[in-house]
Amino acid sequence: MPTTISAPNRHTEKRHGTPGTTCVHYLNYDLTCDQYDDMRRRAQGCCEICRTPEAETTRGMLVVDHFHGGGAWFVRGLLCDRCNSVMSRHDRNVVWGPASLPFREAAAEYHRNAYGKPSPEEFQKAANHIATRKPFNIRNVPRQPVPPPAKPRRKPRPVRTDRGVKHLAQGLLRQLSPIQVDDLVARLQEGER
Ligand SMILES: [Zn+2]
Ligand SMILES: [Zn+2]
Repeated sequence: MPTTISAPNRHTEKRHGTPGTTCVHYLNYDLTCDQYDDMRRRAQGCCEICRTPEAETTRGMLVVDHFHGGGAWFVRGLLCDRCNSVMSRHDRNVVWGPASLPFREAAAEYHRNAYGKPSPEEFQKAANHIATRKPFNIRNVPRQPVPPPAKPRRKPRPVRTDRGVKHLAQGLLRQLSPIQVDDLVARLQEGER
């Protein structure tokens, strides 16, 4: 790694981005400008997984990707937005679908070649963390009961009282909610006593 005479700080790391402001890569990822340039050289202007040129990415820029979890934290490299989400798949230990499957091995390879050069212990912490994560999959989310669409209310048929008790009872049941039915039954039984 390139050495600088004075320790890098927020006043020295300003080579990229808006003039006069401290570089985001330094503030967010503790990468000095020299390291950032070095990482960009490694990426050769392309996403480090799919090799999409920076200008052709969704936002026209490669993003700094890092791993964080289980006590491990390290910068991995530069990615396009799509491969950034591929890595969140990798980090979550998710089931790989047909669209993402071709990237699985590339994602693992990229993780192993992390720019931050994590120690074997850090890699182990990361692996343990990934292994214990419950795979996020939409199919694992319990299905929420969806209420049936409200039916347009039909005008209740009038209950006829001249066709016997059974007919009357059925007519009433159609018009009452189950709670109301229970209530009615309880009252009738009470009245019987
Ligand atoms: Zn910089
Ligand atoms: Zn990519």
